[in-house]
Amino acid sequence: MKKFLALLLALTMVFALVSCGAAQTTKTTAPAKTAEKPAEQTGAEETEGAKETLIMATNATFPPYEYFEGEKMVGIDVEIATAIAEKLGMELEIKNVEFDTIIAGIETGSFTIGMAGMTVTEERLETVNFSDTYAQGVQVVIVKDGSDITSPDDLAGKKIGVQQGTTGDIYATDDFGEENVSKFKNGPDAVQALVSGNVDAVIIDNEPAKSYVAANEGLTILETSYADEDYAIAIAKGNTALLEKINTALEELTADGTIPAIIAKYIPASN
Ligand code: GLN
Repeated sequence: MKKFLALLLALTMVFALVSCGAAQTTKTTAPAKTAEKPAEQTGAEETEGAKETLIMATNATFPPYEYFEGEKMVGIDVEIATAIAEKLGMELEIKNVEFDTIIAGIETGSFTIGMAGMTVTEERLETVNFSDTYAQGVQVVIVKDGSDITSPDDLAGKKIGVQQGTTGDIYATDDFGEENVSKFKNGPDAVQALVSGNVDAVIIDNEPAKSYVAANEGLTILETSYADEDYAIAIAKGNTALLEKINTALEELTADGTIPAIIAKYIPASN
């Protein structure tokens, strides 16, 4: 009888444990149900996380289009790209790379767009597409004060510094020969070579030229410019849907005054 009682007790305990377990399960189910809200929030975050990323490649040595103010990259291209990404509901990610790697990176899919005061050229159009133009550029010649180079015609036979892979490089190489053109990674390096007398002139875009000349004593920009150009956003050939969206965004941001205001903020004279 004792044995029977002991067995009954044991059985009761097992039952109690099972019930308890069941109760626990219910309990854990209940918070799980109420946890649906956080789950929804997670869902919202996921949607945000799933925002398509607009990877912009640039070279931030090119004021006022892209340059660093302390730790922060700022400039016309940075602000226009931010406005475009916002309009398209995309997450903007900016990659600071060498200028002459931008087009190849777009072609291979590493970057969605290239925005770097980039000039539309026939040659580049063979590899990438360009958006509508959003700004004008001018290739100018920087020389030392008192230089015997007083117009681009005087550049023949001189040592010319350029930023590698830029239109300044391409045109100068065409016009004056590879042997007369020294190629540098970026504009400031080319200008440094001019300051130290390693080149006689630098061909570069007018707006960064103004900054470089302001930052270095004894330099001047020739009055006669070298070439006029259009800046646009480079994008992969196959990405025509995004190209159309970007063009629409550019049109709207121009019409509502956003882009003119950004340009006027960085180039006050354009007012
Ligand atoms: N506008 C020039 C080009 O597209 C230079 C651009 C740059 O140096 N960021 O080649």
